[in-house]
Amino acid sequence: MDYDLSPSERAWRDEVRAFVAEHMSEALVEETRQLGNEERGPAVHKFQLALRDKGWWGLAWPKEYGGLEKSAIEQWIFIDELESAGVPMLPLTVTSVAPTIMRVGSEDQRREWLPRITNAEIEFAVAYSEPEAGTDLASLRTRAELHGDEWVINGQKMWNTMAHTATHNWIAVRTEPEAPKHKGISMIIVPMNAPGITVQGIYVWPGLRTNALFLDNVRVPRDYLIGERGMGFYYAAMALNFERLSIGSIGMARRQFRSLVKAVCELEVDGRALRTDPWVRERLARLQVEIDAARMIGLETAWALVQGRVPAAESSMAKIFVSELSQRIADVGTQILGLNGQLHANDSAARVDGRLQWMYRIAPMLAFGGGTNEIQRDIIGFMGYGLPRK
Ligand SMILES: Cc1cc2nc3c(=O)[nH]c(=O)nc-3n(C[C@H](O)[C@H](O)[C@H](O)COP(=O)(O)OP(=O)(O)OC[C@H]3O[C@@H](n4cnc5c(N)ncnc54)[C@H](O)[C@@H]3O)c2cc1C
Repeated sequence: MDYDLSPSERAWRDEVRAFVAEHMSEALVEETRQLGNEERGPAVHKFQLALRDKGWWGLAWPKEYGGLEKSAIEQWIFIDELESAGVPMLPLTVTSVAPTIMRVGSEDQRREWLPRITNAEIEFAVAYSEPEAGTDLASLRTRAELHGDEWVINGQKMWNTMAHTATHNWIAVRTEPEAPKHKGISMIIVPMNAPGITVQGIYVWPGLRTNALFLDNVRVPRDYLIGERGMGFYYAAMALNFERLSIGSIGMARRQFRSLVKAVCELEVDGRALRTDPWVRERLARLQVEIDAARMIGLETAWALVQGRVPAAESSMAKIFVSELSQRIADVGTQILGLNGQLHANDSAARVDGRLQWMYRIAPMLAFGGGTNEIQRDIIGFMGYGLPRK
């Protein structure tokens, strides 16, 4: 494959870059870093609406649903530009839930939900995990029973990020308790204002908020179960595949690396310019090589999609490589910058606006978000090399 962008891809990159530059502000960058906290800030909301008004929410969607049918490489460029600028990505509602509804929902369901997503009228949290079901999602216990024309849902979900701000929840529930455990699950949409829902905040290491969700006799209409009953495990896997596509982007890591290099070029420690230190130079060079490699893996994944292949192994490779590289950049960066590199952005002595310590705290999440890296390594083994699953 050709790792250079074509003239039209370069023109698309420039268009996205110009749009981002036009809408960029300090407040937007700051709010992007706080995403997942108590509220979505006004600058993030405004930026997401600007993307929507431009028609870019449906970048990869089919034209019949108001999409632009951009190629996988153009999507890759788009995500890379947004991340590299430090502005918010498209919400999971648009990148993961909507494409799944588009593929598996009935015609009525597509007509009901997709326009409301496109209008930014509704936003989803996703609820797969439970206290006893994470990697082994098929063990989930939250139960939905059909009573007349309504599903009645009881159970507990864990790590239901954004549940405190979302209007709706995309929930994996067990509808067929007698079926083998992978076959008895369905995906169901639950409005967050339905009686019987309790959201309890959980605060995690990077200062972000996620939630436990309790469902006590929550009732939703029968046709809020999306697609086929009993197929939810496969629909959740599909939605997670879409989610992984953006986690494997190198844009954010590249941005933090640029800030680090800039700081190294400017700073002196004990009267000596940091940039003259052989250890620092060697570390930065090594990271640059890895960033270039990550870009190629990302492009190759997108290229496989353009060729009509499902790049299961490649997207897992991209996700592992970028998430672990982000950890290395943060690790090396905080070592190079010394104790000041570990200070929060609010501290006047912080270096690089506290970005490296922020990345240090956020990077572990990338390693398990969208499926843990251990499982991605398994996927590479059996999907990429045909190794036995066990
Ligand atoms: C901050 C945060 C936000 C989250 N947001 C969401 C969300 O919005 N929605 C949602 O549904 N979930 C969310 N999650 C849950 C996340 O997806 C799970 O934590 C993840 O899937 C792992 O599940 P677990 O925590 O139960 O760990 P476990 O599944 O118990 O895994 C523990 C460790 O064992 C390893 N392991 C497990 N099984 C195997 C195996 N077969 N082979 C090799 N290694 C294995 C794992 O890789 C991991 O390292 C979030 C979690 C956190 C911490």
